[in-house]
Amino acid sequence: MTVRSWLPGRLIATLCALALPIASATAQPQPAGRVLVLTTGGTIASRASGPMTDGPALVRAIPELARVASVEVEEISRIASSQMTPRDWLRMARQVNARFAADQALRGIVVTHGTDTMEETAYFLTLTVRDARPVVMVGSMRGSDEVSADGPANLLNGVRVAMSAEAKGQGVLVVLNEDIGDARDVWKTDNRRASTFRSPERGFLGAADPDSIVFFRRALRAHTTASEFDVRTVDALPAVEIISDYAGFDSTIMQAAVARRPGGIVLASFAGGRLSAGARASVRLAAAAGIPVVVASRVPGGRIVGTPLGDLPAVLARDLPPHKARVLLMLALTKGRERAMLQSVFDRY
Ligand code: ASP
Repeated sequence: MTVRSWLPGRLIATLCALALPIASATAQPQPAGRVLVLTTGGTIASRASGPMTDGPALVRAIPELARVASVEVEEISRIASSQMTPRDWLRMARQVNARFAADQALRGIVVTHGTDTMEETAYFLTLTVRDARPVVMVGSMRGSDEVSADGPANLLNGVRVAMSAEAKGQGVLVVLNEDIGDARDVWKTDNRRASTFRSPERGFLGAADPDSIVFFRRALRAHTTASEFDVRTVDALPAVEIISDYAGFDSTIMQAAVARRPGGIVLASFAGGRLSAGARASVRLAAAAGIPVVVASRVPGGRIVGTPLGDLPAVLARDLPPHKARVLLMLALTKGRERAMLQSVFDRY
């Protein structure tokens, strides 16, 4: 006997009406696109109870991802980001460019990464990824098995941003603590707190709010498809040292650095690009050895302007901090060593 034969018509109609929303709520809507997650290690994968979590396990731990995108995950390393090297940056750039070139349907790529050197990797990728689609870097300040681990929320938000139409053309983004930072401007400012990434002077590009991904501004400095740096044929990057000026600096450190014959040297100066007497002598020493020097301020706010170096033959990093000036100088040196060309690069990126 079927249900229909003894239930009055009105009751059947009511039951059918009730069943519809339940059926639609349980039938998961198919996500609108595909996102690739590349995992590299870092605190987001770390465990107090043992070795780092592997990439697929990181994604499996967040079932909510299935509602945002079809996620593909690939582990490319499992290291603390303090162990990252320029060789790793090159490999990552090649992998991102190859995946984008091979898969036009991919909406975006999320890279899970340690926070210690995330800003260097992000800046390198924003200068070398040849595609306008989103590349979003995420990490965490608490390990995967700590109370209130922040990694899962950051990874979920990273995938949400990668799926956002407004993220296209913004360059490489850094997403932690619901903030969307620009690869060029973000800076790790705190040893402990989840809000560690700040953009000291320009603020964030946007926010990963619970209801939507919102952008307040666009990244204007050259990046990704507007970048002249193509590392698809670069096997190794020129070595660039960073030397910090300090009260009473003398040039012995520079002599040792010059003896290693690096491609270039970044000199971390006092505010405004000002240098100690010893550091000024060091610039001349490096220049005489034919090694380009870029002066970058140790102070986070403002651009180096005017002629703080007088007639010293050095390039000004403007508002880039020393560790990011190093990234840009490595790439600029793949184009040449002439000071005017190098200065033009630092004025545009
Ligand atoms: N504590 C760092 C992190 O937040 C460790 C690393 O950078 O690998 O990921």
